[in-house]
Amino acid sequence: MATDNLPPLPSDADLRRLIHFSAGDGRIWLAGHRMVLLHLGGLANLRKELMQTIGVEQTRRVLKRAGYESGVRDATLARQVRPNATPFEQFAVGPQLHMLEGAVQVTPEFCDFDLEAGKHHGIFRWDHSWEVESHVRDFGPQTEPVCWMLIGYASGFTTAFFGKQFLYREIQCAACGHDSCRIEGRPLEDWPDGEQLMEDYQADSLLVRMEDLQADLESLRVSLAPSDDLGELIGRSKSFDKAIELLRKAAGTQVTVLLTGETGVGKERFARTLHAMSPRASKPFVAVNCAALPHELIESELFGAEKGAFTGAGAARPGRFERADGGTLFLDELGELPPSAQAKLLRVLQTGEVERLGATATRKVDVRVVAATNVDLEAAVEAGRFRRDLMYRLNVYPIGIPPLRDRIEDIEPLANHMLQAFMALHNKRVAGISDRALDAMRNYPWPGNVRELENLIERGLIITPAGQMVDVDDLFAVAPTPPPVTLSESGELKQALPADLDTLFDELQKRGLSLDALEDGLIQQAVDRAGGNLSAAARALGLTRPQLSYRLQRIRER
Ligand SMILES: [Zn+2]
Repeated sequence: MATDNLPPLPSDADLRRLIHFSAGDGRIWLAGHRMVLLHLGGLANLRKELMQTIGVEQTRRVLKRAGYESGVRDATLARQVRPNATPFEQFAVGPQLHMLEGAVQVTPEFCDFDLEAGKHHGIFRWDHSWEVESHVRDFGPQTEPVCWMLIGYASGFTTAFFGKQFLYREIQCAACGHDSCRIEGRPLEDWPDGEQLMEDYQADSLLVRMEDLQADLESLRVSLAPSDDLGELIGRSKSFDKAIELLRKAAGTQVTVLLTGETGVGKERFARTLHAMSPRASKPFVAVNCAALPHELIESELFGAEKGAFTGAGAARPGRFERADGGTLFLDELGELPPSAQAKLLRVLQTGEVERLGATATRKVDVRVVAATNVDLEAAVEAGRFRRDLMYRLNVYPIGIPPLRDRIEDIEPLANHMLQAFMALHNKRVAGISDRALDAMRNYPWPGNVRELENLIERGLIITPAGQMVDVDDLFAVAPTPPPVTLSESGELKQALPADLDTLFDELQKRGLSLDALEDGLIQQAVDRAGGNLSAAARALGLTRPQLSYRLQRIRER
């Protein structure tokens, strides 16, 4: 493209709209990325103390890498925000965000693109660099460039923008007495000393190298693990810890365990883990889903059948009980077991012997039974659908597995673990999950629990372009409501109102709803959708939990 007459930078109104101040919950957003408004004095002090403790060289490298990470994140927005713009306008997202973020004033002087060949050559002038300002104040005039974080940003942004390694360097820095800084960027291979420049961006300490190796090993391990290990038992929440603690205590014993919990909470994973932790780990783990088997087949599946026991039983075959001999039999959705099978199961549990259909003798089996149900067995007994004596027999050691909405702090580690596993499975790499997407996940009530999370993460990975971050739109069809305050073009904070406020107002008028009634309705809706979880409902409404409680109280008093 033409280079001598660079077009002016496009309006940054589209970028300003990405900034949301959500003061009510203490957060600032740049699209999906959480930002922090810092005092330059504080940041400058951090920079100074870093130099004094780990030295100038190390500080330069650390700050370059920190800037690089920011640049990479901003690059994920470039094509997203300006999908139909020229390459220059898309690329300008970097310099323009850098300005909006208060880092430096950027003036393009030369900018050349060959997107197909992966070539780019750019020269930009920098004024008001925060690093020059603080460095010169603390250490006086310099002989070497000092805009480390800034140059890291330019390199990271350009590299992520093109999907290949680029390096920017300062060809002059205002800290060295020039009237402004000037930076130049080229592909790595076009710099004669490119490899040497790259060293600043490589993790350097032995410790970090070891961490890298460990991460490689982990991803290998994940990619080798069977797919049903995806999102294996991971969590740090109190309710999850409690369930794990019960599981651990039961593992060494022979006790019959009953796992209860909503659909999708991972009951089979708990059962497998229990088996793996038990002395039976080297013996078979056999799972049966009682709801998935036709009623007429369930008894022969569980207990086996002799030849000719029923139409279609061509040969004698062992049932799942026999196949699990020495190991663990997992009976999922136990509440669906038909009455005659319930009677037979009770007998096996009482005697430790199974009788194949059509057989004249019984066989001894040594099986530990783990049952699971998402229905209330007590209620099923009351309704006459489940045997009371069988329930007592199975309900010796119940473990309640909490729904995902009650273990919000587990969502991030679970999601990251699943993402790693799916990246290995689909042989595709993305940059991670955006802060905004994680936030939306924490606010979602998860009716389908861990299984739903797993589906969403897999879908998110497939939709997200390689190298980018999985964002909220990649996970949820409808993004949650935006935070309430945004940055106007005049630079002031203003209330961010939905575009169709007119429609909403007309609707209110039409229905004769008062503002109070609307507020009550919205609050009730949020509480219902969060399944009664007030913390989640409060987050969804952008309120604190005490604020929500107060309003609920007021509704009840009306
Ligand atoms: Zn500089």
